[in-house]
Amino acid sequence: MPALREFARDQLAIAEQKGLRRRMVQTERTGPAIVRRAGRDLVSFSCNDYLNLAHHPRVIAAATRALNQQGAGAGASRLVTGNHPAYGELESLLAQMKQTERALVFSSGYAANVGTIPALVGRDDLILIDRLAHACQWDGARLSGATVLRFEHNDVENARELLKTHRQSFGRCLILTETVFSMDGDLGPIDELRDLASRHDAWLMTDDAHGLGLIPPRLADLQMGTLSKAVGVAGGYVCGPSEVVAYLENRARTLMFSTGLPPSNVAAAAEALKILRDDPDLCARPIASARRFTSALGRPPAASPIVPVVLGEPERAMAASAMLEQNGLLVVAIRPPSVPPGTARLRFAFSASLQVEDIDRAAGLLKEQGYA
Ligand SMILES: *Cc1c(COP(=O)(O)O)cnc(C)c1O
Repeated sequence: MPALREFARDQLAIAEQKGLRRRMVQTERTGPAIVRRAGRDLVSFSCNDYLNLAHHPRVIAAATRALNQQGAGAGASRLVTGNHPAYGELESLLAQMKQTERALVFSSGYAANVGTIPALVGRDDLILIDRLAHACQWDGARLSGATVLRFEHNDVENARELLKTHRQSFGRCLILTETVFSMDGDLGPIDELRDLASRHDAWLMTDDAHGLGLIPPRLADLQMGTLSKAVGVAGGYVCGPSEVVAYLENRARTLMFSTGLPPSNVAAAAEALKILRDDPDLCARPIASARRFTSALGRPPAASPIVPVVLGEPERAMAASAMLEQNGLLVVAIRPPSVPPGTARLRFAFSASLQVEDIDRAAGLLKEQGYA
C-alpha cells in the first residue's frame, strides 16, 4: 500500500495530466460583481450572487445587528440550543414565497438535499433523477439506499417509461430534478413532472438553487433551495407541508447532527429575502443581461441568468478563461466532473450589477477569438 502522501501525489498527477487539476484561487469579493485576484480587480461573471445582495447595506446591517446582539455562532444543533430567533422569520418568509405551509433551514443547500432525500426514501424505494441533476441530489439519492434510476435530461417521456416499468416493484417513489439547471441554465419541466408524479403515486422534489428570485416559483411536493445564490448569504432550505417539515426535524441527519447557522447569517438571509421579495425590477435584471449576451452571440434568448459557452476539452475552456481574465473579466472554466466529459465550458452567471459595456465586451472577445 502506498504511503498516504504518495497516494495523493499520484492522484494529483493523474488529474494534472487530464487537464483536470483544480486549484483554489484567493479571491476577494470587494463589491457587487467585482472580485480582486492577485491584486487586480476583475468584473465577475462567476459569482452566483445574482442580485448582488451580499454587499447590500441593509443585509450587512442586519448581520451586524445580530452579530452584536447574539454572538458569532449558534452554539449547538437547532434541536439543542442553536434555534435562535432569526430562524422563525426566515422560515416564514421562505414558506410564504414558496406558497407552502412551512420551511426548514439547513446549514447549506448541500446539507438540505443530503439530509432530506434519505429521510424520505430507503432500501425498498425508488428514485428517478435527471441525468444532469446537481451532485448533492445524486449524493442524497445514493446515501438513501433506494434504487436510483436516471432519466435523460428533461425527458419526461423517458421518466414516464421508467415509472411504467418499475414503479410497482417499489414502495415509495421520489422524483428529483432542478428548476434551473446549474451548468446549462435551461429550465426543468416541473409542471409535467408534477403531473407525472401524481399519476404514478410518486413525490416530486425540486432543487430551486438557481431559481429563487430569478424565475417565478413552480409548485412541487417539496421545494428545496439555497440561501447562498440569489439570496447572497449561506444556508439551504426545504419547503413543504407542515407535517413533512416536522418529520424532517426528526429525521434529517444533516439538520440533527450539525450546528445551526450563525445568527448573523440567518438574519442577513431574512433581510435579503425581503429585498428580493419587494423588488421585482432588481430580480428582472440578471435575465435581461443574460439575454443581451445571448443576443450578441446570435443564440436563442437565455431562459435564466446562466449561459454556458461549451468549448469541449478542458484545455480549451481554460484558455478561453485566461484570455478573458487578461481582459479584466473573470469567467471561471467548468470542467468534468462538474459537467459531462467533452463539455468543458465557460459558465456565465449574470448578476444585477453587471454593466452593459462589460457584457458586450465579453461577447465581443469570445467572437473575435473564435470561441463563439
Ligand atoms: C449550489 C447548489 C446547491 C448547493 O447549495 P449550497 O448552499 O451552496 O450548498 C444545490 N443544488 C444546486 C442545483 C446548486 O447549484
